[in-house]
Amino acid sequence: MTTFKRTSKTNQDDKFKRGLIFYLCAFIFIVIAAILVLTVSPSRTKHQEPSITPPNTISGLDSESKPIDNSSLEIPVLMYHYIRQVTDPNDSLGKNLSVTPETFDKQLAWLKDHGYEAITFDKALDIFANKEAISNKPVIITFDDGYKDAYTAAMPSLLKHNLTGIFYVISAFIMRDQHVSFDDISMMIENKMTIGCHTLDHVDLTAVNPDRLQSELVDCKESLANVYSIPVSDFSYPSGKYNDEVENAVKAAGFKTATTTHSGVWKQSDDPYQIPRIRMSESTNLSNILK
Ligand SMILES: [Zn+2]
Repeated sequence: MTTFKRTSKTNQDDKFKRGLIFYLCAFIFIVIAAILVLTVSPSRTKHQEPSITPPNTISGLDSESKPIDNSSLEIPVLMYHYIRQVTDPNDSLGKNLSVTPETFDKQLAWLKDHGYEAITFDKALDIFANKEAISNKPVIITFDDGYKDAYTAAMPSLLKHNLTGIFYVISAFIMRDQHVSFDDISMMIENKMTIGCHTLDHVDLTAVNPDRLQSELVDCKESLANVYSIPVSDFSYPSGKYNDEVENAVKAAGFKTATTTHSGVWKQSDDPYQIPRIRMSESTNLSNILK
């Protein structure tokens, strides 16, 4: 009995030891497993990081190296003449060519409120040549004839709205009554306005001889370029009148753009020497024309 009891006790001890060893092994296994999880996992994450980063980098490179395509872009070119109040009720021609300073200011405010950025023709040519991407909606604001109110009314309003304009000056009319002076033009250039040419004498270029055609273009361009040491590369046909001969002479004189009085919005496919414009008047509602 005693032996049986002893044997039974020994068996119980053995069972207890085996159980203890089992639980110890299990505990060590869990500890090792826990250590592996804590140490190996982060190292995996670290190794995975570079494999996550490249796709981002590649997509970044893709967007940077992706060719710029502005082919579907349209640039509205606004055409103004006078920014003034017409007091004579019978002056219908004067009224048609005029926008009051108050309305002009509201039209500029509308452009700013709707995300438009006023650009130069130089920038527009770069955009259309796909050399430059654009963020804001582009617009070009032009003024024909170089009237005095370009300086006294148009420029202050443009500056107020952080916009810029292109002013086509008739070079022989500078200093004349109702027209800008040389000092006015200096101030306009200082304020980042662009000066373009509207010929020497505002003649009908389709009705003059080749020599006169040449001097109307070159004299205007060179006189402005010489007095102000600026490039003069934008031209506006007087009364919108041109033909092939006139257009070729404008190109030969070194102008890069020429605006017409054709109604429309400038597209990439358009001839840069036949740029259409939007005639602005007191009643023009930009929200009906632009988006
Ligand atoms: Zn004109």
